[in-house]
Amino acid sequence: MTPYPHLLEPLDLGHTTLRNRVIMGSMHTGMEDRARHLPELAAYFAERAKGGVALSVTGGYAPNWHGWLLPFGSLMTSARLADKHRIVTDAVHEHGGKIALQLLHAGRYGYHPFKRGASTRKSPITPFGSPKAMSTKEVGRTVDDFAASAVLARRAGYDGVEIMGSEGYLINQMLTARTNDRTDRWGGSAEKRMRFPVEIVERIREAVGDDFIVMYRMSLLDLVDDAQSWDETVELAKRVETAGVSIINTGIGWHEARIPTIVTSVPRGAFSWVTGKLRPEVSVPVVASNRINTPEIAEEIIASGQADLVSMARPLLSDPYFVLKAAEGRADEINTCIACNQACLDHTFQNQRATCMLNPRAGHETSLVLSPTRSAKRVAVVGAGPAGLAAAAELSGRGHTIELFEALPEVGGQFRLAMQIPGKEEFTETIRYFSRRLEINRVRVHLGTRASVADLAGFDEVVLATGVEPRRPVIPGVDHPSVVDYQEVIRGRVPVGRTVAVMGAGGIGFDVSEFLLHDCGESLEHWMRRWGVTDPALERGGLAVKVKAPPKRQVFLLQRKSTELGKGLGKTSGWVHRQTLKDSGVEMLKGVTYDRIDDDGLHITIATGKDSAESRLLSVETIVLCTGQESVRDLVEPLEATGVPVHVIGGADVAAELDAKRAIKQATELAARI
Ligand code: NAP
Repeated sequence: MTPYPHLLEPLDLGHTTLRNRVIMGSMHTGMEDRARHLPELAAYFAERAKGGVALSVTGGYAPNWHGWLLPFGSLMTSARLADKHRIVTDAVHEHGGKIALQLLHAGRYGYHPFKRGASTRKSPITPFGSPKAMSTKEVGRTVDDFAASAVLARRAGYDGVEIMGSEGYLINQMLTARTNDRTDRWGGSAEKRMRFPVEIVERIREAVGDDFIVMYRMSLLDLVDDAQSWDETVELAKRVETAGVSIINTGIGWHEARIPTIVTSVPRGAFSWVTGKLRPEVSVPVVASNRINTPEIAEEIIASGQADLVSMARPLLSDPYFVLKAAEGRADEINTCIACNQACLDHTFQNQRATCMLNPRAGHETSLVLSPTRSAKRVAVVGAGPAGLAAAAELSGRGHTIELFEALPEVGGQFRLAMQIPGKEEFTETIRYFSRRLEINRVRVHLGTRASVADLAGFDEVVLATGVEPRRPVIPGVDHPSVVDYQEVIRGRVPVGRTVAVMGAGGIGFDVSEFLLHDCGESLEHWMRRWGVTDPALERGGLAVKVKAPPKRQVFLLQRKSTELGKGLGKTSGWVHRQTLKDSGVEMLKGVTYDRIDDDGLHITIATGKDSAESRLLSVETIVLCTGQESVRDLVEPLEATGVPVHVIGGADVAAELDAKRAIKQATELAARI
């Protein structure tokens, strides 16, 4: 008996059956925009279908060019284009999966000057000024365009379409008074504002017939001001049901909302309660989404009656075989999504192809291939941080004989530090995943062993993933007893006072500040209060006043650069870290010169203008160094002198960009080559 009976149960949609309850949610990968990338998109979706996903949803395709996300972005507007998609739909069907094309009109979120909106109101997060407001006729034509695109999707072999009605895109913009100030038949009252999505669904259903999946992604929690009320949301759900949708999917938060909805620190399954609130109001199946990343949480959501299906996107990037592994009782082998966003959403927003920090093959299925080796070698891997773990797992997976040496008593490296940071508890899953792979692949792991040149004699090749050590800056008084480094602090090896200066405001300075302010394991209720999220039946859009948690310490975060602190953090997660520290009263100081450290504290000079500065004493009990890293490379030269091929990867290679995304990618690419 499987522990996931509800998750794995097929779902009868009348004209067709989904083989289980897992939907791969829409995510723009960058492979949608050019027809020449469709073979790669096909390989990407084929792998997820092979891994057991019931229904995948493509990234967004605009029904007309005014609805582009990006200039010359993905469109579904001609039979010629549609026919090129056959390669994608055939590939998915070959593995027993189904696939729907997402129809997305970006509205005022379009990154181009030709965008159209419900009104001329400008998006606070998008360049190129205000959108042009659609004329009454143009709105009608856009409804036609949605229907025409759905017909083309059917022609392309898709099993259905998803209408993107959430996240603040055009349909959402038409639905709320926040963005729709129209006085024609498409605006003026909640009822009239609903007309646009309802007509889209009606027209699509009419055009595609009954035997085609029409999913509607509905914003259940807008998380912005002047949003829909809960009554309006329920009314819309009923109307789109009557208009002919097969499934209602959940969308949470407009992109411009200032509440995190998907980053690591959002508790698992944080929004399934809203889907559960809608479910009794409609009779079509509903889908829960956001931060669902394990089969346990997915099963619980369905078993408890909150939803009929779950949507996961990023967790299927990190592990395309998620469903299969769960079904075969191998859930402990799942490469669990840690919601870091570093290589998926951050890439999308930087116009790069989306992939996955933990699985660099995602989106590169045809070019990064890890096939069994034909000449097995004995390879030593030194260092069991992310780079070493990935190298050992992938090399052994290909059939090489691997021995892994780690100086500390446990594997994990920097990830073992990261998992101690409040809101980053997920990193423990990655250590579990790699540990299990090493076990399955029979990697000999030497813990507590600082490998010497003699230990490494006799191997065919050596991979050095010896990582980094914290940089100790040259500052008068840096040896004062109040000065500690971040590793000692996170490992709990040194006492930390109630007033602290964190020196260095990179990713680690931010993490350490959070570590000093709050505890791990925050409950959903606490998280909701802290960010001001409430029941949308109580407040429009689910927005409440934030209840700030009292911080454990007074923290100053400092950097020498004169740029805003946290500028180098991830595009989709950096603002959450900045806001968290702000809400915890952290004083962030830029343009700082560190003068000296003594019994009184940290003496600094702060640039206040081009030629002006002021001196300040921070009377802190503890100063934590988060001042970057130095590579640990002491084995490189002596090993090279022995003539053995040496590969240096991860932080040991480039400390300045100590970065797990690069480390794991480098390790995986190396593993594919040896
Ligand atoms: P980092 O991003 O390079 O930041 C180092 C900080 O130390 C900077 O603020 C730098 O700013 C300062 N610094 C450098 N040399 C100094 C010196 N000699 N004296 C005083 N200050 C000095 O490094 P990190 O914080 O160690 O993070 C490393 C990497 O880990 C990141 O790049 C990221 O890839 C990863 N990471 C990311 C996150 C995240 O995104 N949330 C979290 C943890 C780790 P000034 O030179 O302006 O003072």
